[in-house]
Amino acid sequence: MTRKARRAVVTGGAGFIGSHLVERLLAEGARVVVVDNFATGRMQNLAHLRDDKRLAIHKLDIAETGRLTPLCREADWIFHLAALADIVPSIERPTDYFRANVAGTESVLEAARSAKVSRFVYAASSSCYGIPEACPTPETADIKPEYPYALTKYLGELLVRHWGKVYGLPITSLRFFNVFGPRARTSGTYGAVFGVFLAQKLKGRPCTVVGDGNQTRDFTYVTDVAEALLQAARSPKAEGEVFNVGSGSTYSINRLIRLLDVESVHIPKRPAEPDCTFADISKIRKVLGWQPKVRFEDGVRRMLEHLQDWEDAPIWTPASIKRATQGWFKHLSSGSPR
Ligand code: UDP
Repeated sequence: MTRKARRAVVTGGAGFIGSHLVERLLAEGARVVVVDNFATGRMQNLAHLRDDKRLAIHKLDIAETGRLTPLCREADWIFHLAALADIVPSIERPTDYFRANVAGTESVLEAARSAKVSRFVYAASSSCYGIPEACPTPETADIKPEYPYALTKYLGELLVRHWGKVYGLPITSLRFFNVFGPRARTSGTYGAVFGVFLAQKLKGRPCTVVGDGNQTRDFTYVTDVAEALLQAARSPKAEGEVFNVGSGSTYSINRLIRLLDVESVHIPKRPAEPDCTFADISKIRKVLGWQPKVRFEDGVRRMLEHLQDWEDAPIWTPASIKRATQGWFKHLSSGSPR
């Protein structure tokens, strides 16, 4: 039986997770329109797919509704991944985060509504749980965003739910936990731990371990996340639902240090940072039959095979991290870095 090719729009499709999703959708036979403003997304992330005639790439900001709506007109599925990430700049520039992550989401929802898509999938964030009371954390846990990035991603999730309720838009939200894998961002901003550690390893510098390194994170491999996005679009059972997407376990920073086989240096514990993130993924397993496939050790090994990708990434030192995170300490705790 032949099935008509699906048409998908991926906002943020030139970013880390977006580019893996685009790859997965093309492998599935879909036609894909990427919308990205290339603020943090990179054409290089899609370079290996550029010759595929089913892929169209458009440089535009999601807030430009006039240009976005016609691009979405034919879409069956919209995956909304475009967003500003990282904690520190969100504390320094909350208005930019509100515009991109809240107003931007409203704009994509309106484009989806006029296109009458069969599914709108939103990349939500596990940062909405703040410092969770229970680990593993279920979707029903309290929502306690600790900084503007977390707040604006959650406000986006509320908008998505609202468009589902008021306009009947078929929506699904996935709350991602610490996604890692090749093509993870290497921007100038102090950000996700893999980017920081791999650049340090490549240059033979010690890795900057926060606190005692016993804190754990639910590191989820990016191809598993791309698969969850696809299943969320496809399954009728996903409509109207919110799912956690995690690895099924949680891993300490010290364990990561051992796997990377690097020296370490300790830096102060950061305010409003949980000791553990760990998704309860029983809901997505049960409803969608999705499960993570890539083991943490294998994911780290694959990252090490791509170590050269971090050649141009900034090298962070305890001193430069202290400077870059001053706003974090100033605003989220009463004291300053110890
Ligand atoms: N981390 C670290 N050194 C760094 C950056 C991060 O030890 O230079 C740790 C951090 O304490 C946390 C984990 O790595 O336990 C993941 O941090 P990231 O900022 O990537 O994500 P989040 O804290 O938002 O989960």
